[in-house]
Amino acid sequence: MERGGDKARRALAQLYPHTGRAHIVGITGAPGTGKSTLVNEMAKAYRRQGLTVGIIAVDPTSPFSGGAFLGDRIRMRELATERDIFIRSMATRGSLGGLARATADAARVLDAGGYQVVLVETVGAGQSEVEIARMAHTTVVIQMPASGDEIQAIKAGILEIADIIVVNKADLPGADNAVTALRTMLDLDSAHTEWHHRRSARVAGVVTDSAGTQVAWRPPVLKTSAIRGEGTEELIAAIQAHLQYQSDSGLKERRERERATAELRRILRHTLLERLLNQISDRNLQSTVERIVAREQDPYSAAETLIAETGLTVEKGRLEESGCASC
Ligand code: GDP
Repeated sequence: MERGGDKARRALAQLYPHTGRAHIVGITGAPGTGKSTLVNEMAKAYRRQGLTVGIIAVDPTSPFSGGAFLGDRIRMRELATERDIFIRSMATRGSLGGLARATADAARVLDAGGYQVVLVETVGAGQSEVEIARMAHTTVVIQMPASGDEIQAIKAGILEIADIIVVNKADLPGADNAVTALRTMLDLDSAHTEWHHRRSARVAGVVTDSAGTQVAWRPPVLKTSAIRGEGTEELIAAIQAHLQYQSDSGLKERRERERATAELRRILRHTLLERLLNQISDRNLQSTVERIVAREQDPYSAAETLIAETGLTVEKGRLEESGCASC
């Protein structure tokens, strides 16, 4: 499945009807924040509740692919006494898009296999956590107290993807300050201002209006100490509350549609682009490039010419509008 191809696609077609039941939880944070330790603790806590757990550890910074890393083997030994926990490592295979796809498919395999919770652990490395967050129902962002009273620098965009924020290593000094700082940042963050206007009571992350109707989700900031096994139950309760909020508010269905739309568009774009490129000979492509370099033709007109030669028609000006940096 990770390698993709025809066989994987046939397998996916067969198992797809059995997917959609697992709660997919993304856990993201910088290296060393204690993700692996915390994910292990979470898995054990889920097991205590009688739930089966799949773990996918994604490392976009590692060039290795497939198989178990050393870290994995250590983890497996630790969790060996825990039945019903499955661990799989994934690493980049050239492209981030490929990794995101392979991770999504791996999560589907576990979902179809009956794992009730799938924890997808990613190293916070820019775009990757955003890609992974897209497929998760709930995204947990891990921070840790830094030396002194400062909290770790938070990258732009990371708060927007967080449904729950965790300050791990709460046994170290500075954890309370980190929690306060994060709460302040959340309050200031424009993406999360909704509750300011409508806030009344708040249970876990759910914001309700005066009539008790759920109106928004405010990412709670929690403290854990993974090495001491503290705070894990509360974290799992918050994850559960987030899932419940999404189901009750209809957000779960809406997000599911958005995910399906994005995936379908991605597949169509990729497939159509491949077909189109296959129809253009290398020689033709090369001579077009030469014309662009020689300033004889601009890139848009050149693309229009090539597309026209394949028999497809493109409205004038459409190329510019659909300019897509990632496809
Ligand atoms: P990852 O790189 O984010 O997966 O982090 P790891 O789980 O590998 O942990 C990095 C280091 O932090 C290890 O030495 C852990 O033992 C340690 N660590 C993890 N959780 C805690 C914690 O709650 N408190 C303290 N003091 N150390 C922790």
